[in-house]
Amino acid sequence: MPRQTFTPEQLTQLLSGLHPDLFLLGPSDLAGRHPGEHPDNFAGGVMAQPASTQAAAALVAWCAAHDVALVPQGGLTGLVGGNVSHAGEVILSSARLNRILAVHPDEMTVEVEAGVQLETLQQAVAAHGLTTGIDLGSRGSATIGGMVSTNAGGILAFRNGVMRHQVLGLEAVLPSGAVFSDMTRVVKVSAGPDLKQVFIGGEGAFGFVTRVVLKLELQRPARATAFLGVSDAASALSVIRHFRSLPSVTLEGAEMMWPRYIRDCSALKGFDLSWLDEDAAALLIEVSAETVERATVALEEGLETLWEPAALKGGVIAQSLDHAKKFWDIREDSGFYYPAIPHAPSFDISVPPTRLDAYVSGLDARLKAIDPGYEAYVYGHVADGNLHLTLIKPGPLPADELLAVENAIYVGIGEAGGSFSAEHGVGTEKRHAYETFASPQKQALARTIKQAVDPKGIFNPGKVPF
Ligand SMILES: Cc1cc2nc3c(=O)[nH]c(=O)nc-3n(C[C@H](O)[C@H](O)[C@H](O)COP(=O)(O)OP(=O)(O)OC[C@H]3O[C@@H](n4cnc5c(N)ncnc54)[C@H](O)[C@@H]3O)c2cc1C
Repeated sequence: MPRQTFTPEQLTQLLSGLHPDLFLLGPSDLAGRHPGEHPDNFAGGVMAQPASTQAAAALVAWCAAHDVALVPQGGLTGLVGGNVSHAGEVILSSARLNRILAVHPDEMTVEVEAGVQLETLQQAVAAHGLTTGIDLGSRGSATIGGMVSTNAGGILAFRNGVMRHQVLGLEAVLPSGAVFSDMTRVVKVSAGPDLKQVFIGGEGAFGFVTRVVLKLELQRPARATAFLGVSDAASALSVIRHFRSLPSVTLEGAEMMWPRYIRDCSALKGFDLSWLDEDAAALLIEVSAETVERATVALEEGLETLWEPAALKGGVIAQSLDHAKKFWDIREDSGFYYPAIPHAPSFDISVPPTRLDAYVSGLDARLKAIDPGYEAYVYGHVADGNLHLTLIKPGPLPADELLAVENAIYVGIGEAGGSFSAEHGVGTEKRHAYETFASPQKQALARTIKQAVDPKGIFNPGKVPF
């Protein structure tokens, strides 16, 4: 049956007065706003901002009754087009679901609404000596609901797992308008299948996440940070293993940047790399301890021990917090290349960490076989095998060229035990990869669940291919 189509103006009018906690923005309100990481995020032209679960449920029930599609949105930092909306659809924003409901310091858990931003939560729980188990470069904008929906990973995934491993409880409005509530606060629940998992990594296709219970971690602010030259990922992994095995420190970050990325980014930012061998990759490593002095001594001693066995190619230990921030800025400002290479095609894959070197050299050869001038920026969360890859060429590529590049990037990843999408999701941009590389059985089961939960297909249509 064709979907009901209303104009944004009609929708704004029809929805006003639906619930006292429901706020609406029409086309003129959205016109001046930044749409986030995709220019078409606000193309729908009407945004509903519920300030309570009840208001979200009333809106969704109305949309279900009138066959109107909804596009859930959080902080708009998603990188795969999962927030793109079209005329006739209602953007369902978590912007007003922004309360931290309860912190339980002795349980090390927190209850939050879905629109709370990661950094706001980190700052609030720091007052209790706690922090979140997941940290992302987009912490200033990304919301907990968006992180749940993409199953975000980030800097600490090698130690704490991904969002899926941090969520204890969850509430969501289902596509019927009914509320699924499982605000469990404990780790141990062995009472049948864990149905909240369908929303984690569900990319807004199964409902709208409204509240979440998260685990928390102890905050360890006494840090020491180093920037090291390494020849390859194997060398980086031996450094990582060393620091993970030391009882006196906790490893807080291990981020690797391959030579072309580190050279171009440093040049742009005026970061002095004269100490680093020309052909070396860089490993940013951060440890915490009881005091900054102890963390620094552990780093210094570790680097001395590792110098020869790990074949280190230079290194600098940060002399201050500002100095450490400069190191992190090189890694986290990974969009530095976009002004020079707009719409450069980018990818987010994972392979078992010990296969990284073989993958990177194989990829280089496969890209050069398509075009000898092809090269990619390679960087990422080396300790868990997650690489971000950006082709050094402006996009969008013609369809056949993109297909060849995708095949060069994704081939063999599943067989090697990795994934074509490590932490960013599928959205609109990785649909083809999902259809090609996710197993047919997985795709069929996902479609069956989607059909059962959302028979009219009103939640986030056209994204993960349902
Ligand atoms: C500079 C930068 C660094 C990044 N670093 C990382 C990183 O290290 N690791 C990582 O995993 N990601 C990273 N990302 C990607 C991005 O930040 C994450 O995907 C994040 O989880 C998205 O959160 P968000 O609130 O912005 O969600 P949005 O972008 O608003 O939405 C993402 C998806 O979730 C759905 N969604 C949003 N809110 C809800 C809700 N309440 N209910 C149901 N569905 C919802 C949307 O429909 C969409 O499909 C980075 C992005 C940038 C720009």
